[in-house]
Amino acid sequence: MVGPAASWPLGAAMMEVQGPSSSGANSSRQMLEVRPGLYLGGVASVAEPDQLREAGITAVLTVDSEEPGFKAGAGVEGLRSLFVPALDKPETDLLSHLDRCVAFIGQACTEGRAVLVHCHAGVSRSVAIVTAFLMKTDQLTFEQAYENLQTIKPEAKMNEGFEWQLKLYQAMGNEVDTSSAIYKQYRLQKVTEKYPELQNLPQELFAVDPTTISQGLKDEVLYKCRKCRRSLFRSSSILDHKEGSGPIAFAHKRMTTPFMLTTGSQAQCTSYFIEPVQWMESTLLGVMDGQLLCPKCSAKLGSFNWYGEQCSCGRWITPAFQIHKNRVDEMKVLPVLGSQTRKI
Ligand SMILES: [Zn+2]
Ligand SMILES: [Zn+2]
Repeated sequence: MVGPAASWPLGAAMMEVQGPSSSGANSSRQMLEVRPGLYLGGVASVAEPDQLREAGITAVLTVDSEEPGFKAGAGVEGLRSLFVPALDKPETDLLSHLDRCVAFIGQACTEGRAVLVHCHAGVSRSVAIVTAFLMKTDQLTFEQAYENLQTIKPEAKMNEGFEWQLKLYQAMGNEVDTSSAIYKQYRLQKVTEKYPELQNLPQELFAVDPTTISQGLKDEVLYKCRKCRRSLFRSSSILDHKEGSGPIAFAHKRMTTPFMLTTGSQAQCTSYFIEPVQWMESTLLGVMDGQLLCPKCSAKLGSFNWYGEQCSCGRWITPAFQIHKNRVDEMKVLPVLGSQTRKI
């Protein structure tokens, strides 16, 4: 878990420090100043308080599998730290931590603190975090920020999963918008990876059943079963895959090959791809794919598949919760009488 800002634990555990003869020792020991007051490094950089003190570092962001035990030493007290537990694997969710990390670095800079961002080798995880920070503060694209960093530190090489996450970060405007279709789709993919047996899906994964909410949000459209008028989902649950957000949002490594064949297709989408809604829960548990039926009249509305389905426009969406447009009616939520709707 991400700990709050904490002072250095004294009498900390021994750190594993590479000896001077092992390969890569220099790069892991060395801290690089990539911007004035912003340092990037490996685990060895926090093992030597002297080095931190000499560089004037008073804030440390650790993105690693283990929280570092800082050696006691003069000048290490009062340091601010943030620990983000993360393995250097493509499937690691770094995206959800980016706002917090970027804010931590930004806050330290504002206070005039020199800040160190480090992981184990100083090559992938810390590079991804610093890249996000540069994207946001210097208004750079992912490619610009990453290339910029690689000119300063040539061995910097984040894994492909982090690259993909930073492209999503960019598509969201260098801020993690948890209500955006991009983030919702990303979270769904992460859930699929995390819960292969799909027996205990987290509740927050499901959108609230629109029949349980009396108030309509401004400008929201309600979608009802064409046959029995039962409210099924809101427009905020639609995971758009229009040009622009689509290719970036769904270009996960597992599904790149067949999907590229259809990029740029302008064919009309005949389905809505939505986030799961509460009434689907019993249908989705423990099953990889199946039909989606109206919870009231059992009319066939569409289908779902945790491995993904292809839209009529050609794009694959993973996982997919697909509602055929001709099985539902769009109803505008009237602003004055929130519970009333009007067909549009
Ligand atoms: Zn489509
Ligand atoms: Zn129905």
